[in-house]
Amino acid sequence: MRILIVEDDRLLGEGILAGIRQAGFAADWVQDGAAALAAAQSEPFSAVVLDLGLPRLSGLDVLRELRAKRNAIPVLILTARDTSKDVIAGLDAGGDDYMIKPFDLGELAARLRALIRRSAGGAAPLLQHGELTLDPAARSVRWQGHAVELAPREFALLHELLLGAGRVLTRAQLEAKLYPWGEEVESNALEVHIHHLRKKLAPELIRTVRGVGYMVPRDE
Ligand code: CA
Repeated sequence: MRILIVEDDRLLGEGILAGIRQAGFAADWVQDGAAALAAAQSEPFSAVVLDLGLPRLSGLDVLRELRAKRNAIPVLILTARDTSKDVIAGLDAGGDDYMIKPFDLGELAARLRALIRRSAGGAAPLLQHGELTLDPAARSVRWQGHAVELAPREFALLHELLLGAGRVLTRAQLEAKLYPWGEEVESNALEVHIHHLRKKLAPELIRTVRGVGYMVPRDE
């Protein structure tokens, strides 16, 4: 789960970035509307946290532009503008959720989880796949009824594969969803995580699609 944070206030941006990462998301932070639009169109973010008052391009303009280009990424507006009129304008411009500053980071993370599961076509808070259960909020995994310890990146990778069950996810897609900008990624990092997941869970859970990527088959 990689989140794009759009916030021009430096202290607040740093705070949100740290909080979102602590909640288990990968996250990138940009400080103006034009950069937000470019980022949202070039990287496979799972959701956007969008301030409204921004330099270069306002938050509402970013939102309208994304929707005009048929970009369906979930957008949570996070702003100090607190009148009903503002909320209505934000949601009607294409926003999916609206939070007013000051806000609680735990609540922001929970709202993001809700937006992400909805956008993947789900409603249940737990992801079930055969004998596997993944709890995005508790960041825990159970396999055949037993808790399994996963490293944070292994958990994030499994989460992406389960959300995309039945579809082949390319290496590039998975890497882009797992790693924020500026992070060094070893060329075989993904293979290593897949190897660990197969060992800790079941070898047959994750299929390799040669030359393309990986998939978890749809749960029948
Ligand atoms: Ca602002």
